[in-house]
Amino acid sequence: MQKLEDGIHHFQANYFASNRELFEQLAAAGQQPETLFITCCDSRVVPNLITSTAPGELFIIRNVGNIVPAFGRGPLGGVSAAIEYAVEVLQVGSIIVCGHTHCGAIDAILHPERVSHLPNVTRWLRESERIPQLIADRYGFLEGEAQTTAAIEENVLVQLENLRTFDFVARRLDEGKLKMNGWVFKIATGEVFDYEPRSGQFLKLVPSDETRPPLSERAPAAR
Ligand SMILES: [Zn+2]
Repeated sequence: MQKLEDGIHHFQANYFASNRELFEQLAAAGQQPETLFITCCDSRVVPNLITSTAPGELFIIRNVGNIVPAFGRGPLGGVSAAIEYAVEVLQVGSIIVCGHTHCGAIDAILHPERVSHLPNVTRWLRESERIPQLIADRYGFLEGEAQTTAAIEENVLVQLENLRTFDFVARRLDEGKLKMNGWVFKIATGEVFDYEPRSGQFLKLVPSDETRPPLSERAPAAR
């Protein structure tokens, strides 16, 4: 706790002092974030840090396993409310669902018996309960970590599908007013892999001034 209090003093004396105008402007004008960022609770994933974004730029939803309960099927609650507010009121232009490596939720989705003593976690992860079968059907040829990576990626894609079950999300996507991306953050390397629908693969994000090699020369990055 002392570490956090010291941290607050450090923040006020340094970052805040250097960015006072930004905070004053955000307080006066309100927030206008461009992106709704949905990720896991995991303490090793720090959205503003990995995207180098400032206060006011990301509207963030965090939960166990970066899950979006489908409209009308999953539990209605904080996630649905935050999505509705971000899209209908803040009118964000993009939604990112960001999974990550070494995710305990994915481990629990693949091995539900390990969390059977945790009724709330078990119930929450039901939204992704089709993933083990999906992995067995499509990725039976993969083993160990490669199979876990496939599950992390598929879990992100399931949430992108679930986002479309909200009519206001589907409408804006169809109108071209909203974009969605699926990411996987690799903790050990700091790399981020972005789902590319054309190839059906998660490919490493590279600086925009770096030329991407043609699709055919790119290895499936995260697997
Ligand atoms: Zn996680």
